[in-house]
Amino acid sequence: SHPEFKAAIPIMKAIEAAGYEAYFVGGSVRDALLGLPIHDVDIASSAYPAEIKQIFQRTVDTGIQHGTVMVLDHGTGYEVTTFRTESGYQDFRRPDQVTFVRSLAEDLKRRDFTVNALAVRHDGTVIDLFGGLDDLTAKQLKAVGNPHERFHEDALRMMRGVRFESQLGFQLESATKAAIAENAPLLAHVSVERIAAEFTRLLTGIARQAGLTDFLATGLYRYAPLLDDQEAAITKLAAASGPQWAEPAVGWTLLAHLTQVPVVALMRAWKQANAMTELVKRATVLLGQLPTPSAWALYQAGAAALPVALAAAQALQPDFDAAPVAQAYQMLPIQAKSALAIDGKTLIAHGFAPGPKLGQVLNQLEQAVVAGELANDQAALLKAAGV
Ligand code: ATP
Ligand code: MG
Repeated sequence: SHPEFKAAIPIMKAIEAAGYEAYFVGGSVRDALLGLPIHDVDIASSAYPAEIKQIFQRTVDTGIQHGTVMVLDHGTGYEVTTFRTESGYQDFRRPDQVTFVRSLAEDLKRRDFTVNALAVRHDGTVIDLFGGLDDLTAKQLKAVGNPHERFHEDALRMMRGVRFESQLGFQLESATKAAIAENAPLLAHVSVERIAAEFTRLLTGIARQAGLTDFLATGLYRYAPLLDDQEAAITKLAAASGPQWAEPAVGWTLLAHLTQVPVVALMRAWKQANAMTELVKRATVLLGQLPTPSAWALYQAGAAALPVALAAAQALQPDFDAAPVAQAYQMLPIQAKSALAIDGKTLIAHGFAPGPKLGQVLNQLEQAVVAGELANDQAALLKAAGV
């Protein structure tokens, strides 16, 4: 019914016409069955990569070593991945060996949760070998097969479990949850980047309270960067009420605020981008001054960090009134340095000597204007600068 699936049907039919099987698999199948919007459709096939390339005129080797070929059709790319099994997870994170197979069942068996192990043929037939449809109805995340083995193979799956709880509003099935609690220490073998990618999605999910509660209850947090002794802070984060967080920065800001870990240290430990660190830094400073921030803190926060700090404040205190703070921001004499009625060039043109003093004076003028102590007009600013 989704146009994304419909558009891919000719691809599926072409694969079948050549004598192979092809199915829609993965998150798009799960989300479509839940009535959610979908992003990319994943196609799994019994055809080997070389065979896919023989069927279609235009293909790109996007991930041929793990069996993925992109088929180009009318300007759209479709990722077709050969059925495969994985074996020998020596390091709790990556298979030593990926083997292409002809059996759909073998491919579905290696997937993490039953709701992620459904396959759909182009005619709409659902292949449900592990009870995924019942689990979709029950809104539960259940490991495919033995949960202990599955988390041993790949410890990231445990973080995916709590992420999906938040993203989908599902609950971990009890044996699956118990296996996460038991195997949580294996998370230490997973790269920070991969843990962070899941945690970020957990923070912005519709049911972050459930995801965070189990991140805590299973002990996963003990193996997450700088959070090992932050039970109290994460308990508060999990209890934070209010609407879904529009951006992960809200969660990071609250985490920094509640743990009292310096923002830069926290964000570095989680390998976050500099832009995110900067945003969270500004939002955290502002949050610390709410509900009556200085004009300078508001100005420094800027238009990007302001909503982050306000959402964080609302999460901590449901009756927090954001309107006066938002209004105070709107009333600032200037909202960016570019709006200052003077710059270094102008000062120099009026006889101010170039040098370090120039920067200091400009900063003082900026602060005075923001504080409302000086009018933002060039004559007043030149006079204040002593030229
Ligand atoms: P979303 O796209 O919303 O993040 P998804 O389920 O599609 O969710 P992907 O990471 O895109 O997640 O993976 C696609 C599919 O591949 C999953 O649905 C699952 O069947 C399988 N998969 C992904 N990662 C793992 C893993 N670590 N272990 C087992 N199977 C996995
Ligand atoms: Mg996906």
